[in-house]
Amino acid sequence: MIIEPRIRGFICITAHPAGCAQHVHDQVAAVRAKGPIADFPKRVLVLGCSGGYGLSSRVVAAFGGGAATVGVSFEREPAENRTASAGWYNNRAFEHEAAAASLPAVTLDGDAFSAEMKARTVEAIRETLGGQVDLVVYSLAAPTRTDPTGRTWRSAIKPIGDPVTVKTLNTDKGEVFETTLQPATDEEIEGTVKVMGGEDWELWIEALKAAGVLAPGFRTVSYTYIGSELTWPIYWKATLGKAKEDLDRAARAIRAKYGDEAARVVTLKAVVTQASSAIPVVPLYGVVLFKVMQEQDLHEDILEHIDRLFRSRFTRQPNDLDEAGRIRLDDWELSAPVQTEVLRRWPLISTETLPEFADLALFRSDFLKIFGFGLAGVDYAADVDPRVVPDLSGAA
Ligand code: NAD
Repeated sequence: MIIEPRIRGFICITAHPAGCAQHVHDQVAAVRAKGPIADFPKRVLVLGCSGGYGLSSRVVAAFGGGAATVGVSFEREPAENRTASAGWYNNRAFEHEAAAASLPAVTLDGDAFSAEMKARTVEAIRETLGGQVDLVVYSLAAPTRTDPTGRTWRSAIKPIGDPVTVKTLNTDKGEVFETTLQPATDEEIEGTVKVMGGEDWELWIEALKAAGVLAPGFRTVSYTYIGSELTWPIYWKATLGKAKEDLDRAARAIRAKYGDEAARVVTLKAVVTQASSAIPVVPLYGVVLFKVMQEQDLHEDILEHIDRLFRSRFTRQPNDLDEAGRIRLDDWELSAPVQTEVLRRWPLISTETLPEFADLALFRSDFLKIFGFGLAGVDYAADVDPRVVPDLSGAA
């Protein structure tokens, strides 16, 4: 079939196997071009490995750090006449690249919140990582979670307290408009903390410990976002922020059990991913931010950002941490020159002024790339089997 993007709201319901393979291949090539990362953990588990920050973490760990990896994600398989989800293609492409580089890699597909997946992962660590894991990257972004009691929780992206009126962007139409968001109920706040907070992270570490597969001196990281005051009403001071505060609590709890170096929350920059595209305000803030950061020579794509984490901030000096003990990789995004300029532009932004003040083209191209579209070197007119991911590991 000829596969084209079919965008529905915040999601593209098709994905291109050759495009996703190219996207992964390009990330592998970008890490390799920077050379190996010294003293990197060699046995790595990535939860949420199929896209966004998790995929980049796995690529940097393997092709920069030389690590064997186990990945866990929840993706849709292809059928004869239906494409897989992008993450399913990314996983296959990653496996091709890893095999060609003789890096052990296994990917498990299913619900990371379940006890069953934790048990399967322990088995995979025994089989693929020689029985121990040195680094656990927790990069799940999910709408729902069924906890160990069987109760299903749903996350909500809502303000807390009063309704909030914010500027936002329809990325499809390029229209800037105001929207009013109603505040979350207590139950919605609790649900968001249950889904996106730290409880499941702790359960993973406990399960790995109980199975005896945590290496002495193991480390674990989980990703968070704080962002600028422009997004606080819908992020940091809202339901998602409450969940992210709970990650900080979980990190402290893991450190209390396993030592001061064991667990860190890492504050990352805003990038275009499936998860972030669904959050109101964030795409508008993102398009302004991307333009300002490019102008100031500070723009990083998702791979460059994670590469900087593992290459230069992971082995850290104590004074690199903020007051909550987090590693701050959002230092460039939140630097005074960047934020001053974003704040100056914000009241001036409208549908008409968007091209002058923001980079919507970059957002759109990053969004399409998530699904394997718009990548150089891919023949999108070709008739492809949606069940087959080409092996590009030998390509230039
Ligand atoms: P993403 O949507 O690109 O990836 C989410 C991953 O989670 C995918 O691999 C998906 O398969 C997996 N997943 C979802 N539900 C699952 C389940 N039940 N079982 C197994 N796997 C499941 O998301 P992302 O934007 O890369 O977010 C990852 C983390 O980074 C989140 O904690 C997010 O808050 C954080 N973060 C994101 C941004 C951003 O701008 N995107 C910024 C800072 C921090």
